[in-house]
Amino acid sequence: MGIRVENIKKTFTSGKAFTALDGVSLNIRTGELIALLGPSGSGKTTLLRIIAGLEFADEGEIYFDSEEASHTPVQNRRVGFVFQHYALFRHMTVFDNIAFGLRVKDKAVRPGKDKIHEKVMRLVDLVHLSGFHDRYPSQLSGGQRQRVALARALAVDPRMLLLDEPFGALDSKVRKELRRWLRRLHDELHITTVFVTHDQEEAMELADRVVVMNDGRIEQEGTPERVYHSPASAFVYDFLGNYNALDGWRRGKECHTLGHGESLPEGAERVRLFARPHDMDIARNPQDMRAIRARIIHINPAGPLVSVEMEDDLGKFLQAALTQEKFTTLDLCKGQIVYLQPQETKVF
Ligand code: ADP
Ligand code: MG
Repeated sequence: MGIRVENIKKTFTSGKAFTALDGVSLNIRTGELIALLGPSGSGKTTLLRIIAGLEFADEGEIYFDSEEASHTPVQNRRVGFVFQHYALFRHMTVFDNIAFGLRVKDKAVRPGKDKIHEKVMRLVDLVHLSGFHDRYPSQLSGGQRQRVALARALAVDPRMLLLDEPFGALDSKVRKELRRWLRRLHDELHITTVFVTHDQEEAMELADRVVVMNDGRIEQEGTPERVYHSPASAFVYDFLGNYNALDGWRRGKECHTLGHGESLPEGAERVRLFARPHDMDIARNPQDMRAIRARIIHINPAGPLVSVEMEDDLGKFLQAALTQEKFTTLDLCKGQIVYLQPQETKVF
């Protein structure tokens, strides 16, 4: 099912009035996996709760396909949720937790005992917990519990899945496994899914489309590739990774960093240029007056790329990420003076 959100506004008035959503419009296609990505307080949970029907907007509409659903109560929306701390029922086994939503249905629509058994066991398999159906939540790892929560959400055949930082409380290795697992599960089920996260890597790896939120508004939406390579604003660029902010100049179509031996060319205006650490080229000698001179203050070679931290002549912090091979060839050490040239820069 497709979800269309139109010009949603929401102000909380308990205490000091606070606008959590300030005109949000979004079109989620049937079967799509969307990530709502943004810093804490940007309005992600509020938007998800409004889609779920746990909260109502002050203005704007929500459509499920062509059905106007802005005032539909939560129990009639047929949504499945998983929250970071949506605790399982502790006194119930995995089986009973997953069966819960089926057993509380009205008698008229409730499936028979055998049907429930068959369905729950199928879901147990689907979330890769075969053999665990008799366990209690306390006998499961955090990652296993969240998979049970997902199976419980899926049991009632929801028309969409709403996941609010479902892996937020887990350690990074488990998070990465669950991310891949969820991606495969989605490829299998094709259920329209909205996944909330503040972790850009998680959003990029998981989603068909990423929606970057800031201060109750959408900053940018697009494929992970597009959002990463063509950020629409400094906010998005900043949020998606480390960067260097460099002094530069612009004159007509020409735009460059202001190098160590260079003064502002005549008729040029000063601009701020942004460059990712892996786009910084390092040399031991100044091949060009336009290079930025810096002193190495720290090197961290543990990782796929070597991270080199530096300070320029004015004490400004700069960082570069080099391949192990390049690092070995350059033979860099702490305290050394190097010359930097960004290979790719952005101006906003
Ligand atoms: P996110 O999920 O992106 O961290 P939220 O949607 O939870 O952001 O919150 C957005 C803003 O709205 C926050 O500043 C938060 O304090 C405020 N807010 C959320 N829920 C309420 C509420 N029930 N009452 C008052 N303020 C709220
Ligand atoms: Mg939240």
